[in-house]
Amino acid sequence: MDKLLLMSCCAPCSVGVITDLANQKVNFAVMFFNPNIQPKEEYERRLAENKRVCKALNVPFVEGDYLPEIWQKATRGLENEPERGKRCDQCFYLRLKAGAEYAKAHGFTRMTSVFGISRFKDFDQVCRAGKKAEQETGIPYETTNWRKNGGLEHAERLAKEYNLYRQTYCGCKPKK
Ligand code: SF4
Repeated sequence: MDKLLLMSCCAPCSVGVITDLANQKVNFAVMFFNPNIQPKEEYERRLAENKRVCKALNVPFVEGDYLPEIWQKATRGLENEPERGKRCDQCFYLRLKAGAEYAKAHGFTRMTSVFGISRFKDFDQVCRAGKKAEQETGIPYETTNWRKNGGLEHAERLAKEYNLYRQTYCGCKPKK
């Protein structure tokens, strides 16, 4: 049976896609695995908002463990990289590989993510990480560009409707 795992970084980025998939009656769940988010209070806040959206739309929500130490290990030496640089390569891959492994272990047939929806992100960079995870796990990674066809504006409208908390930075706090 078809079952999609949608990897989410936060509620403002995912609310439009979750709403659309729920309206289309797609069999899917949202997974929140974001060891990149610092500090922990910020992580908890984003987690709670993403859960709130899923609960409102009656969509299953998978909460990954908060493991900042594995993110730090994966990105060590890349602290001074700019956003969209090599640190982000590792960050996307770490999260998408974990998602693909979860998907494989729990009967999901495909995976995608909203990691590239923000205009600050390099969409192709996210896709490359997802495809690497696909090659290593066999779980197809779908490279849907949710930013297109007004997707970003749709998400922004819904974020206002839900009065979602909107952060001012991606997740990590790299050394300057
Ligand atoms: S800027 Fe965002 S995607 Fe890049 S390493 Fe930091 S948390 Fe990860």
